[in-house]
Amino acid sequence: MDNTPKPQESLALYVKRIRTSLGISQTELALIAGIHLQSLGKIERAMTTKLNSKSQRGLAYALQIPSEYLDAAVRGTPIGASDSLKFCPDCWQPGTPPEEIWLLVRSQCCFLCGTRLRNSCANCNEPITSLKFRFCPYCGKTYKESNDSESQTKPPKKN
Ligand SMILES: [Zn+2]
Ligand SMILES: [Zn+2]
Repeated sequence: MDNTPKPQESLALYVKRIRTSLGISQTELALIAGIHLQSLGKIERAMTTKLNSKSQRGLAYALQIPSEYLDAAVRGTPIGASDSLKFCPDCWQPGTPPEEIWLLVRSQCCFLCGTRLRNSCANCNEPITSLKFRFCPYCGKTYKESNDSESQTKPPKKN
């Protein structure tokens, strides 16, 4: 079953399609997702086109999909669009395209070395929209970190 939102598929149609494919009623879905039946009805009738984080988590859980998929449906952007561009700062070679497996929505860590994948500039946190450039267009820092002296000047880790 293809459970990714199709291009042009609205949140309403997407939720309804996945729910139908799971063979559950609105009542059941609302119950599993922990949201009001009325709220779910509004979502499926396209009267609600944005989800708060609680509904999104609940729906993703109940529909057995990553919550990024709901995000994509809300925004109307296909999965794998530029906002999910991720790469391994250790394995990526500047000037080469990123490994496809890094780009999967569910990939959090590099399949080769286990380093946490990065989707934004380590220096200024702007999202990476293209790896054609080896430098961040916002701050000019290289995307690929070198392991040497620079580690001294890294900002403290955010948790
Ligand atoms: Zn790696
Ligand atoms: Zn930057």
